[in-house]
Amino acid sequence: MSKGDILVVDDLPNNLRFVSTILTERGYKVRSAINGKMALTVAQAACPDLILLDIKMPEMDGYEVCECLKANPKTRDIPIIFLSALDEAVDKVKAFGVGGVDYISKPFYVEEIIARITNQLDLQTAKAEIQNLNSQLEQRVRQRTAQLEREIAQRQQAQEQLLHLALHDALTDLPNRTWFMKRLTQTLQRSRQQKNGQYAVLFLDCDRFKMVNDSLGHLAGDQLLIAVARRLESCLHPVDTLSRFGGDEFALLVEGITQVEAAIAVAQNIQQEMAAPFHIEQHQVFINASIGIVFGSEEYEQPEHLLRDADTAMYRAKALGKGNYQVFTRDMYYRAFQNLQLETDLRIALEKKELRAYYQPIISLETGKICEFETLVRWLHPQRGWISPNEFIPFAEETGLILEIDRLMLRQACHQLQEWRSLYTEMRSLRISVNFSARHFSQSENLNFIDRVLAETQLKGTDLHLEVTESTLMDNALLATQTIQELKKRHIAISIDDFGTGYSSLSYLHHLAAQVLKIDQSFIMRLNEAPENKAIVNAIVSLAHSLNMAVVAEGIETPQQMAYLRSLGCEYGQGFAISRPLDPEAATHLFLST
Ligand code: C2E
Ligand code: MG
Ligand code: MG
Repeated sequence: MSKGDILVVDDLPNNLRFVSTILTERGYKVRSAINGKMALTVAQAACPDLILLDIKMPEMDGYEVCECLKANPKTRDIPIIFLSALDEAVDKVKAFGVGGVDYISKPFYVEEIIARITNQLDLQTAKAEIQNLNSQLEQRVRQRTAQLEREIAQRQQAQEQLLHLALHDALTDLPNRTWFMKRLTQTLQRSRQQKNGQYAVLFLDCDRFKMVNDSLGHLAGDQLLIAVARRLESCLHPVDTLSRFGGDEFALLVEGITQVEAAIAVAQNIQQEMAAPFHIEQHQVFINASIGIVFGSEEYEQPEHLLRDADTAMYRAKALGKGNYQVFTRDMYYRAFQNLQLETDLRIALEKKELRAYYQPIISLETGKICEFETLVRWLHPQRGWISPNEFIPFAEETGLILEIDRLMLRQACHQLQEWRSLYTEMRSLRISVNFSARHFSQSENLNFIDRVLAETQLKGTDLHLEVTESTLMDNALLATQTIQELKKRHIAISIDDFGTGYSSLSYLHHLAAQVLKIDQSFIMRLNEAPENKAIVNAIVSLAHSLNMAVVAEGIETPQQMAYLRSLGCEYGQGFAISRPLDPEAATHLFLST
């Protein structure tokens, strides 16, 4: 292998030959040119590693050749060693001035030529190495920079995702409560400063969502919630904020309005939109929303208070029937406050055992004998005296306290029956019925509780009757059917209470397979008012019988009513004409005296 490719340029053939020979001998590959033009052509055709260039040449001298080489990017970096007879300082300076060049003065010394050539070639190799290293380094820096940029972008994305997760609901991707409260805080502050920026908060709760969730499953429930979210979004203006608070609850902040009517219009629009069916897994699902509206006023200092009032209004709307809206009023606040008081009192009452079981007899209309007592809760409030169950039962159902009340009554009633049976042989075939709220009817825990109470009082399932009101049963239909099956296994009979007020369908009634139907007292009371009322009661009795159910008429207040019901073949009766609900002692007396 040659030590380097060297181009020798000299107009004197002797010089050319001399230099070429010594270089070839030393292992270099040598090309030669006898004038400047030729030198440029040769160099451009294939770049030599070094050029030995005579300065003094006719036509084009060495400097000119050097300039041309330096001007061309291809040949610019080729090291040049001038060969010069001129040994003047000016020439040297000129030669150095071009850069990347060296010079040798004539007469030539072989060792000097070789030394300078080696130097230049080494220098060139070193330069190339440095260049190579530099470009490697540059590439590494570039790669690392790109990697860092990617990492930063990923981190930023992750951070944005985290932030999004922290402020959004995962299911619907709507802003969550935290975000909503932040937004509401800003709106509240702004409106207090500007004194004219009005807004409203709408609180929405889907009606019948639980039923869909229970009957079609959670996946369908989730799909429905997403569909509801999208439909609600379609009712928004760009400045409004819609948020999911969890479950089937949504909150909406409506801004840039001047009157409450604008917020009402939004609520009406939402209810109209919600009226169309949702298509979930080949099912058509109808749900609606109860909406509470609170109009932002200067009185409000905290966003939580706005929400609290919107929530109160929503509950009011729900109580008025499904698919309603209500605007919050002061009056509601006091009622809510009273309810809170009632809730506290009721909790205390449960603890202090202020709740008592009273017993109202149910007689056989055929024999006039008492065959059962219905257990009815009574609350002796330390300040307010007797409070009617009609006042606190609906409320207890809303707050969930009903579960405790029902269990308390069930336990008291079973213990009472056990006591009666052990004390009086006449009471051995007596049964007891207990009202049970359908809201919590289906909790499996309840079945365990009933089993425990029956075991501790040594009663059989046939001794006990559960009364569930028709209207609440309808709301929880599917689960109720399963629970009734479980109760049947224990031989505990079910009565459908207040029948006629809950719009149940015939097929549903049949499906439920309850054993007793209690005609609501409103039908009995109106028996004598119009002939149609008689026809209705008549129809209910025949219907029950055709479904193999026994009938209890509630609210019998006159002997005439009783006589008529007996004539229809109605098996059992209950009402003030027989007896009001009584405390245990009075109930015992009554039983033993009839
Ligand atoms: P219900 O189960 O239909 O009970 C019958 C209600 O009618 C009782 O009212 C009873 O006092 C009343 N009543 C009976 N005969 C007559 C009559 O001839 N005329 C009139 N006007 N009323 C009569 P009460 O005790 O005020 O209970 C009201 C409702 O509260 C009950 O209706 C029942 O749905 C519910 N309730 C009572 N105790 C409990 C309980 O322990 N648990 C549950 N979940 N609900 C209960
Ligand atoms: Mg009842
Ligand atoms: Mg009833």
